Amino acid sequence: NIPVIAVDGPSGVGKGTLCQALANHFNWHLLDSGAIYRVLALAALKQNIALDDIIQLTVLALNLPLTFDSSHGDVKVLLAGVDVSKEIRTEQTGGAASEVAAINEVRTALLQRQRDFRQLPGLIADGRDMGTVVFSDAPVKIFLDASAQSRAERRMKQLQDKQIHAKFPEILQEITARDERDRNRAVAPLKPAVDALIIDTTSLSIEDVFNQAIMYIKE
Ligand code: C5P
Repeated sequence: NIPVIAVDGPSGVGKGTLCQALANHFNWHLLDSGAIYRVLALAALKQNIALDDIIQLTVLALNLPLTFDSSHGDVKVLLAGVDVSKEIRTEQTGGAASEVAAINEVRTALLQRQRDFRQLPGLIADGRDMGTVVFSDAPVKIFLDASAQSRAERRMKQLQDKQIHAKFPEILQEITARDERDRNRAVAPLKPAVDALIIDTTSLSIEDVFNQAIMYIKE
């Protein structure tokens, strides 16, 4: 059985940073499952598919021409061969992603695509339902949490680094709304798996979080 470390939590909590660091440390594969939902939402917007059109979204999810290219260091996300890495990171696309992600049929259509990332020597899986649904048999599950304020601050910084313009009050409001939707949806709601280690990252550095995760993994 190929090992998986499932890392879940709300947006801006530091999952992406932790997962990238763990993937580098162990030299394992990395699944950014949020990018899949973001690309699906972007493709739907581009094709004028309504974000509640279950049939069309499910067909799109089953045939999504999405590839990850990690051959140049940074992971690039390609939609039909076109680099959309920057476009998918706006909070607008994040909000649209959380709308399509609330549809059960869409989630089912994307299940196998995510599980296919489980390859030797192992996988670090980043998302909302990695430990509860997609890799519910993962031997290690970590759930990161943090205050909305600190998550919005991190998200602001990330967007600035990518030179995406954003205003703090709007980001805080959008992040809060998105998490509400992710926590309260009927399918795969955002919540820690019963057997997950919960780390509150509000007042922790990236290094602290990494060290706590490594200690737990090595137990
Ligand atoms: O992690 P990221 O912010 O990129 O995810 C975007 C949205 O995709 C989330 O707000 C959530 O609604 C959805 N998502 C999900 N399940 C995952 C990963 C992301 O529902 N495993």
